[in-house]
Order: sequence, then C-alpha cells, then structure tokens
Amino acid sequence: MKRFLSIILIISIALLCVSCGSKKAKKEPFSTSFECFDTVCSLTVYDNITKADFDKLSKSIIDRCKIYDDNFNKNKKDSITSKLNENKFLRLYDDNLEIMNDSVEYGRKTNGNFDITVSPIVDLWNINGDKFKKPNDNQINNCLKFVDYKQIKFDGDTVQLTKAGSIDLGAIAKGFVSDKIVELLKFANVKSAIIDLGGNIYAYGKKGNGMFNVGIKKPFGKDELSATVKVSNKAVITSGIYQRYKEYKGKIYSHIMNPKTGYPVDNDLNSVTIISDNSTAADAYSTACMVMGLDKGMKFVNKAKDIEAVFIDKDNKLHLSKGLEMKGDEINIK
Ligand code: AMP
Ligand code: MG
Repeated sequence: MKRFLSIILIISIALLCVSCGSKKAKKEPFSTSFECFDTVCSLTVYDNITKADFDKLSKSIIDRCKIYDDNFNKNKKDSITSKLNENKFLRLYDDNLEIMNDSVEYGRKTNGNFDITVSPIVDLWNINGDKFKKPNDNQINNCLKFVDYKQIKFDGDTVQLTKAGSIDLGAIAKGFVSDKIVELLKFANVKSAIIDLGGNIYAYGKKGNGMFNVGIKKPFGKDELSATVKVSNKAVITSGIYQRYKEYKGKIYSHIMNPKTGYPVDNDLNSVTIISDNSTAADAYSTACMVMGLDKGMKFVNKAKDIEAVFIDKDNKLHLSKGLEMKGDEINIK
C-alpha cells in the first residue's frame, strides 16, 4: 500500500513538472511549514511558479514526508523500525532497504560512533521522556550487549538483527528524507528551494544569482547565530547537545549517545555542523563527530573528501575544517 502511495506521489510530481512555469508566475518565494518527524519542517521555493503549482508540489512533498515518518519512526506501531525491532527479521524494499544499507555503511565509515543499534541505550536514558532517571552501570552494560551495527545482516531484501538488538533511525532519517526531496524537486524541474526538516537544512540550487546564507545556531543561545555559511546544493546539518537534553544535578545529559560507553555524549563539544552535498552523510557524520569529540572529529572530517564542518566547543568557540578555513569568504563568524 505504501509502495503504491509512493508511486502515486511520483506520478503527481511528474504531472506537476509539466505545468511548472507554464502559467503566469509570481516573484515572491512560496513557503509552507508542517509538522513531521516530531519537529517543525518547512519548504520554500524560489522559482517563478504559480501558487497552485506550489500547493500541488508542497502537498506531494508533505505527503511523502509523512510516509517516511510512518516508516522510519520506531515509536509508530507499523513502522519498519518497530516491526524489525519486534521480530528481529524483516523483508524490506526500495527506500526502506536503502536507509538500512546506508545506516550500516555510515556505521562502518565512522567506526561505530554512528550506530543505529544504539536504540536500547536511547530508550534506557529516555532523554525525551517526562521524568529523568539516571540508569545504573548494570542497566547500561546489559543494554550495551545489544549495541553493534555489525549485527545487521542482509540477505537479498531481508534484514536481520543477529544479536537480537533494536534500531533507531533518529540520527539519519531526516538527512535521508532531504536527499529524497531533492530528487523530487529535480524531477519537478524546480531550480531553487530550501528544505528545512527541524533545522536540518538543504539549500537546493541558487538564490537568484547568489548562494544561500544558512545560519548555524549558537548552542544554548536564544535564537542567536554563531555563524552563517554561503552554500548552494548543500546540506547544512547540526547535531548538538543543546538540541535535546535533560539537566540533572547541574549536569547536562544529551540525546546523543556514545554507543561504546552507553553514556550521553559529554566531551569538549557543544555542536557539530556538517556541510555536504549528501544530506544523509551530513546527518550521520554530524552525530558521529559529536561522539568523536573535537580532535578525532576534526581529523575525520579533514580526511574525508566530500565534507566540511564547523565544530563549536564548550566555550562556544568555532573550529573550522581545512576546506572551510581556506574558503574564508564562505563563512561569516558572528
Ligand atoms: P542527531 O540529532 O542527528 O544527532 O540524532 C540524534 C538522535 O539519534 C537521538 O535522539 C537518538 O534517537 C539517536 N542517536 C543518539 N546517539 C546516536 C548515535 N551515536 N548513533 C546513531 N543514532 C544515535
Ligand atoms: Mg544526525
């Protein structure tokens, strides 16, 4: 059924691309916000399209996002994640299989600092829950037995969790969906847009003749920015301890977990922003670099060819990856 819906959405976008640009156009950008992935998302299109075309396009994209959320959210009963977590074995296809493959690949590339099987640890700490209760070492060690992305085995289109663990796609799903929205925008012949999935930004195309200016939030600041970056066709994705956390006895317990220790990340960083033309990679790497800390994370980014990063340390001081340092005019530090 979900597959059928996806096909319908693709057809409706294909029909839309025929009509894009054919009617009298309006110059202002069109924008819409919607709730999905437990956060506020928005789509802004800068092309000269009519309101009717924008409405059709945005409806298709929002419907598509809701399908992804239904599929990926482990707290939804019929999602692929909750089915896999329950049965430890599942047959998958298309995007559902692709995100699982990607997740394992980024687990490998980050040496397990990004690890979707960290799910039992996420549930144990329950940072998003109402009441905070610090787990004890016994409980943490019991959960750690189930954390290892290498247990995810593929056999054709079936996936198995061989250590009877469970998965959480929270650190990669929005990045993955952004890449899929970009594909839809290309298909619909849209040339310029901003996709914002709860602060996970993709700047698609150019704004007029120039680049998009994307802000990087100041950790724990009140809507203040630490920097802006000029980008085109790039994802700008931040993971930070300030985004979701619980404060207990004067200490901050973040929603980002270290899959090796079973504890919330507590190192020299407040946030990491990854800039990449691949949004899935940016999402996985920003989480992984938060776990790695400043030195290891910076080495990792500088070694990788296709990503740049802004690390913000505990004093809110910025540290730029080599490529960004060289292109000084593309970043504006506040
Ligand atoms: P992000 O905001 O992209 O860094 O994702 C954080 C979310 O991903 C958390 O709320 C958890 O659901 C999950 N998560 C936490 N730590 C990790 C980790 N080290 N690897 C993969 N997923 C994680
Ligand atoms: Mg992430």
